[in-house]
Amino acid sequence: MSTAAFDFDNSYARELEGFYVPWKGAEVPAPRMIRFNRALADDLGLEASALDGDEGAAIFAGHTAPAGAAPLAMAYAGHQFGGFSPQLGDGRALLLGEVIDKRGKRCDIHLKGSGRTPFSRGGDGKAVLGPVLREYIIGEAMHALVVPTTRALAAVTTGENILRQDGPQPGAVLARVASSHLRVGTFQYFAARGETERLRQLADYAIARHYPELASEPDRYLRLLAAVRDRQAALIAKWMHVGFVHGVMNTDNMTISGETIDYGPCAFIDAYDLAAVFSSIDQHGRYAYGNQPKIAQWNLARLAETLLDLINPDDSEDAVRQASDAINGFPLVYEQEWMSGMRAKLGLAVEEPGDMELATGLLSVMEAQAADFTRVFRSLGQVAAGDAEVAGALFQDPSGFDRWLTLWQARLAREPGSPDERARAMNLVNPVYIPRNHRVEAALAAAGKGDLEPFERLVDVLADPFTERPGLEVYALGAPSDFGAYTTYCGT
Ligand code: AMP
Ligand code: MG
Repeated sequence: MSTAAFDFDNSYARELEGFYVPWKGAEVPAPRMIRFNRALADDLGLEASALDGDEGAAIFAGHTAPAGAAPLAMAYAGHQFGGFSPQLGDGRALLLGEVIDKRGKRCDIHLKGSGRTPFSRGGDGKAVLGPVLREYIIGEAMHALVVPTTRALAAVTTGENILRQDGPQPGAVLARVASSHLRVGTFQYFAARGETERLRQLADYAIARHYPELASEPDRYLRLLAAVRDRQAALIAKWMHVGFVHGVMNTDNMTISGETIDYGPCAFIDAYDLAAVFSSIDQHGRYAYGNQPKIAQWNLARLAETLLDLINPDDSEDAVRQASDAINGFPLVYEQEWMSGMRAKLGLAVEEPGDMELATGLLSVMEAQAADFTRVFRSLGQVAAGDAEVAGALFQDPSGFDRWLTLWQARLAREPGSPDERARAMNLVNPVYIPRNHRVEAALAAAGKGDLEPFERLVDVLADPFTERPGLEVYALGAPSDFGAYTTYCGT
């Protein structure tokens, strides 16, 4: 037992017996803190100074359980690349416990890489340093980009060597924080077993935790479905606005809260390309950048299937009709979310019917020219303030872009506010710094050789993505041409 105090309040363990297996982390030879997120620890009401060292390393490696922890491995199922697995579950993860943060929000503290569990199947229950640091970098970057996400609390190494495809790797564990780890796959686990009463318990728990305003509604299960739909639509729109490709949008990686979860083979686009796929295992482009909205809707349909008995226990046709209506509403909600974010990116405060065409017009020009998505949007702030030079230079042949600029500037003339105000507002939503793939890879490669400086620096740069800072110019650039096509690996 450690002395660092966690004020745990473990509602999942308490209220959902039978939905998990109580479990312990594996002991490891030499837990060591690699990076501790003190600011997040403070927000969670944790004793940051007690945890930022050996004691925290042992806890977040899963090696020692803090007082009051009731660690557990959660059961879930999931559709992986379209095929259903009735049993996945936390095969290398543990829910350490829940705490209430300083704003009164309930948060899971969860360990990934903490050893085998009853759900491990053939896996070793471990994680290795590269993917752990990758999840740290990207999760924190997404948070700073104002995209709902799990967050990284700590990255620790375990002192073990873990065998992976390209040889032995340093063992590591990520401690992450989520508003919960309820997934579409959690519902699928119980639906696949025909356990309707457990599904009702789970749905009521999810409502109480994430959508409490629905708790006393007679049609609350249908409303839950619509609420998850709305949050997921908003989330995927945000992914599209920052050029994020998740890479494994399996239903077990889709949260009920609407947070991004499980950063595996994810990546950010440089050139705007709807067909962009990075993951080595996504051979057919199922989870390509431009497919993400459609896949989210597909995943929601899988959630809907699990809720049918709750939506109308007496008339399955009626249940299907109601659930289908909710799912069919996805494209419209998504389009509204996407358009509202796009308007902000384009500096448009008022709505006009031609805005969709204006936005897609820019994207078409970018796609035809393989222009850098992030840099073009950021440069529009300069154009809005009167300087079009930087923007034009981002296109090999700027003629199409110039034509678009004329349309956009005519549209801006009908907007309220001064050019400077507009530029400022645009710079608050169009980032300068995103986790560029080549920077992430360089940071991970250095960390693998024991040099954590590039990782630390990258995390620090990405913590403030909207403020351009002198000396950080290279972090704003896309990959050099010799970086080549980028492929990501699950690395489990
Ligand atoms: P992920 O790809 O991390 O979303 O994981 C998909 C499923 O595989 C989950 O059930 C994980 O717990 C399980 N899994 C992934 N890697 C391992 C591992 N090294 N050992 C055991 N289970 C694993
Ligand atoms: Mg997962």
